[in-house]
Amino acid sequence: CGIVGAVSQRNIVPILIEGLKRLEYRGYDSCGVAVHQAGELRRSRSTSRVAELDTLVAADRVEGFTGIAHTRWATHGAPAVHNAHPHFSHGPGEDAYTARPGRIALVHNGIIENHDELRAELRAKGYVFTSQTDTEVIAHLIDQLYDGDLFDAVKRATLQLKGAYAIAVFCRDEPHRVVGAREGSPLVLGVGTMEGATENFLASDAMALAGVTDQIIYLEEGDVVDLQLGKYWIESAHGAEVRGRYARVERPV
Ligand code: GLU
Repeated sequence: CGIVGAVSQRNIVPILIEGLKRLEYRGYDSCGVAVHQAGELRRSRSTSRVAELDTLVAADRVEGFTGIAHTRWATHGAPAVHNAHPHFSHGPGEDAYTARPGRIALVHNGIIENHDELRAELRAKGYVFTSQTDTEVIAHLIDQLYDGDLFDAVKRATLQLKGAYAIAVFCRDEPHRVVGAREGSPLVLGVGTMEGATENFLASDAMALAGVTDQIIYLEEGDVVDLQLGKYWIESAHGAEVRGRYARVERPV
């Protein structure tokens, strides 16, 4: 189980796939990637190896500057493509199966303990569920709280979550932004520079980013992090606090 996320000015799909390969050692039963592409959410998911996902994204022509990726170790819902992450929100009026996907894309490691209660509330508000995962409730919850500012929506959503999570999220309406949060599951921020352009990454561990940056900031419990082009912002769940905790990690030979 692992997470990779990126905001850049180059196609980040190869970086996401490489990151997943570096996280394969953790074990997984399915994998997936989602990007912001031509104003929409696009994704490929597989119950096979990351190498198969790589073939799939090439065939589906999934490419983008902003995206997230995941290897899943199923806890709620069988290992199956419809349960694989990333999950999309399907708000009231959006047909989950046939129409355009919703506006929130999300990956999650961990377990949301109050998922039944949250699902019931969201169903009552018109949200359509397409998986048996605990994770899908987070995507819909963020969509429901979204009012033009993804960072704000994720912060408010985390206040309602009970359990353990590391999440990475992006929104159709904010093409150059990925938001992450952690509580009980690991997540790091990677700050990269490629030919003068700054790019920011998220991952379950620094090894996943060893090919792209050695500037790693280890997020702490309760942190919510905002990744944009050339800037990032970390806020603790209990109020504003920006930190710059850098640690050098060795590049593999
Ligand atoms: N509980 C989530 C699921 O079953 C996430 C599992 C994981 O950590 O990969 O989909």
